[in-house]
Amino acid sequence: MSDPAQLSRFDQSDDLVVMKFGGTSVEDAAAIRRLIGIVESRRNSKALVVVSALAKVTDQLLEAGRAAANGHLGSALATVRNIYVRHEQLAESLVDGPTHVALDAELRGEFQLLESLLHRIAELRSLDTKLQDQLLSFGECCSSKLVTEALLATGLSASHVDARSCIVTDARHGQACPEWEATNQHVEHNVEPHLQAGRIPVLGGFIAATSDGIPTTLGRGGSDFTAAILGAALGASRIEIWTDVDGVMTTDPKLCPDARVIRRMSFDEASELAHFGAKVLHPATLAPAMRENIPVYVLNSRRPQNEGTEIMAEATHNQKVRAISVKRNVASVEIAPHGKIDSELLGAVFTAFDQHSCSVDVMATSPGRISLLVASTVPLPGIAADLKGIADVSWQNHQALVCLVGENIRRQPEVASRVFATVSDMDVRVLCHGASERTISFLVDESKAEESVRKLHAVFFPKMEPARDWGGLSTAFCQAG
Ligand code: ADP
Ligand code: ASP
Ligand code: MG
Repeated sequence: MSDPAQLSRFDQSDDLVVMKFGGTSVEDAAAIRRLIGIVESRRNSKALVVVSALAKVTDQLLEAGRAAANGHLGSALATVRNIYVRHEQLAESLVDGPTHVALDAELRGEFQLLESLLHRIAELRSLDTKLQDQLLSFGECCSSKLVTEALLATGLSASHVDARSCIVTDARHGQACPEWEATNQHVEHNVEPHLQAGRIPVLGGFIAATSDGIPTTLGRGGSDFTAAILGAALGASRIEIWTDVDGVMTTDPKLCPDARVIRRMSFDEASELAHFGAKVLHPATLAPAMRENIPVYVLNSRRPQNEGTEIMAEATHNQKVRAISVKRNVASVEIAPHGKIDSELLGAVFTAFDQHSCSVDVMATSPGRISLLVASTVPLPGIAADLKGIADVSWQNHQALVCLVGENIRRQPEVASRVFATVSDMDVRVLCHGASERTISFLVDESKAEESVRKLHAVFFPKMEPARDWGGLSTAFCQAG
């Protein structure tokens, strides 16, 4: 367990800290013990904990749901059986005595419900997004119950709160949007009393419900968003996103081992980066924090003593390029209208995309053509059918959108020229100019994405001299921003 004394620099007031722990930060008993150490280190502040499902569980639930829908109920049940055993083993190593018996019964109850849901999916032979949300909610439901009991077992006063009774959303299953008024009211009724009584509310991230109580989810990676929604609703003084990397970095460290931590970023820069594919933050996370001006910290739960990244309203620095992101699985769509491009046609196009819940990333029009990018090809045949009388729709998938983010990056012509000199030997298909001044992005074949990010990273973040011991300065020397 981490030494709480080491972490005390944040522990300076009794303001509310919202702490979100992602899948890898609750993946096993050691991770949950680290989580407990971090929560203990905030014991002089009010704290609220949001947890993701245990690492990989959401993917496994999805896999089980798809298997059931395809007639492979046996394999679906075997998958959830493994998930159950994993939770049981964790319960056993973290909680004992009568509490363990109660938790055990609760987990067993959840997995029985999960099994009946899989039977229903197998009978229906289909998994629509509504059923999928119900299915995926088990991951965060079980992890949050487990973590609550683990916190209680170490003597912390924690209370499980069902996120579905707090976060109210519309019915866009798979990518639901909060209804802010209703959410604020529910949070006030269901969360505040725990805080006032000195208890630590523990909620599952990602999951929510419509005003009729139908389960919804906030989109993959949505637990970050849950933390921000709750932080904004409760007027938190800080939102901490605890994950498996040292902060927001100059690019995904899995792609580029030379990536460095960005010490400070503005809300705007971090939002752009998240929107353009940096998985470390769900793209919607920063909007509620920005609205309420609550700083967001991205921290490593394996190295809680590190400073991480601070994201706030303004962050001064003199770097033209702050980070490089890549969004995979992008499809470029071309719409060729039969008539002229006018407001009526654009209205019809937007309506078609909206009706198929297909969000558009970047859009450009040229004479006789509208080009846009989407994150999934699944709704495209339906959209093409809807627009049949007025336009031809074609698309190309397996693309990746590489994006460079930096305040005023567009006003730095030398940045664009260095970008295109660097990738001049690649088939860079489109130069995309979004509405923002903070990004330069282009489309490449997915197979070239990693190479282009590495090359660009080497140009814009050249390797530094090996760090020497400058009496405490060596870490700062290795970090960006
Ligand atoms: P969690 O389960 O904690 O929510 P995620 O897997 O969703 O964690 O996000 C953390 C991952 O995001 C990192 O392991 C890293 O590979 C990836 N990532 C992508 N871009 C960046 C970036 N610019 N900075 C840091 N991490 C990034
Ligand atoms: N468990 C969900 C997912 O894997 C949400 C999250 O981890 O933030 O997408
Ligand atoms: Mg995440």
